[in-house]
Amino acid sequence: MAEDETASYWYEEQMATDKLYIFDTTLRDGEQSPGFSMNTNEKIRLAHQIETLGVDIIEAGFPIASDDDAHAVKLVAAEIRTPVIAALARCIPADIERAGESLKPAARSRIHTFIATSDLHLERKLRISRDDCIEAVVAAVKQARQYTNDVEFSAEDATRSDMDFLCTVIETAIAMGATTINLPDTVGYCTPEEIEEFFIEIQEKVANIDNVVLSTHCHDDLGLAVANSLAAVRAGVRQVECTINGIGERAGNAALEEIVMATRVKPDRLPYETEVVTTEFFRTSQMLTEFTHESVQANKAIVGRNAFAHEAGIHQDGVIKDRRTYEIMNPEDVGVESTLVLGKHSGRHAVKKQCEDQGYELSRFELDRVYREVISLADRQKSISETDLSSIVENTQISMVTDKGEA
Ligand code: MN
Repeated sequence: MAEDETASYWYEEQMATDKLYIFDTTLRDGEQSPGFSMNTNEKIRLAHQIETLGVDIIEAGFPIASDDDAHAVKLVAAEIRTPVIAALARCIPADIERAGESLKPAARSRIHTFIATSDLHLERKLRISRDDCIEAVVAAVKQARQYTNDVEFSAEDATRSDMDFLCTVIETAIAMGATTINLPDTVGYCTPEEIEEFFIEIQEKVANIDNVVLSTHCHDDLGLAVANSLAAVRAGVRQVECTINGIGERAGNAALEEIVMATRVKPDRLPYETEVVTTEFFRTSQMLTEFTHESVQANKAIVGRNAFAHEAGIHQDGVIKDRRTYEIMNPEDVGVESTLVLGKHSGRHAVKKQCEDQGYELSRFELDRVYREVISLADRQKSISETDLSSIVENTQISMVTDKGEA
């Protein structure tokens, strides 16, 4: 059956290479955090950009949450053809039906169904027994498989769940036909060592785990989401759920751009292949901040305004002589162009280099004057733009001609 071939595709490719599947949930987990909502048109445009970025799976929304969400999932499913399009659903019949319907236009669709497995969530939030939980999983995965052969099951709060019960739930989901098992650190509670041990134990205890792709979904409550995701990968996980700029519930999800660049910068330690076109990172990040009106912090890794900025004189001097002195990756590789920022900590070398880049050949005397002007302007404003610099150079050159004329 053609459809069954699709289901085994993931498994075979995972075994053949050390491919790491990038599951982007910017439009779902990211969008559902306060201040980050987008309208349908923005979601479609961002989905196109995320497709260009080359991720494997786009989680487009949670269709049961609202008519708008269902509509957006339907449009993304119709327009985005390369990645698998996923939709979220609780282990509830109406949720799965809604997700299945919304995904109908997709070239390749995935239903992502989830239920909490920790006693805290079962007793206090869902108010159901462990047996009820198992029953819901059986029904949900079975139902989801009627819409698609690509079914992901997530055990919410997996890292705070009883290990033996969690293993039973996972075995059940796999037996019912789940093809990806995602085990989220829903509240960002683990350290990298714990996550690594957790996934190793899961693989030792769940008999049929080799038949599925194992996935991680980490939150950044302790600032460990990326470190935890990479620890999970080291333990054998081959799908990472993450978002652009690390947006998401509370402190956010693992940042997609940080995970992928870690694999590119350190292939010796992290020998995993992704299809991600890293030169699209900056553009994608900018599009998201433009749509949500939420900028990333200046010192954010990879995409922050200062991620490749060198202002201190010693650093600028080093970068001009050999960029590797202070850069572990090329800014161009993540789509960033300008790197040297002139400010009050800049040295003469950096000013000279910036002038040359703008086509000015300065004598030593001219450079002295320009340098003094740059430093004095930098006392008054935070940084010096290209326009500021060119007007300083031109004023200096004019005044030097006038000075000579007067002499
Ligand atoms: Mn989440």
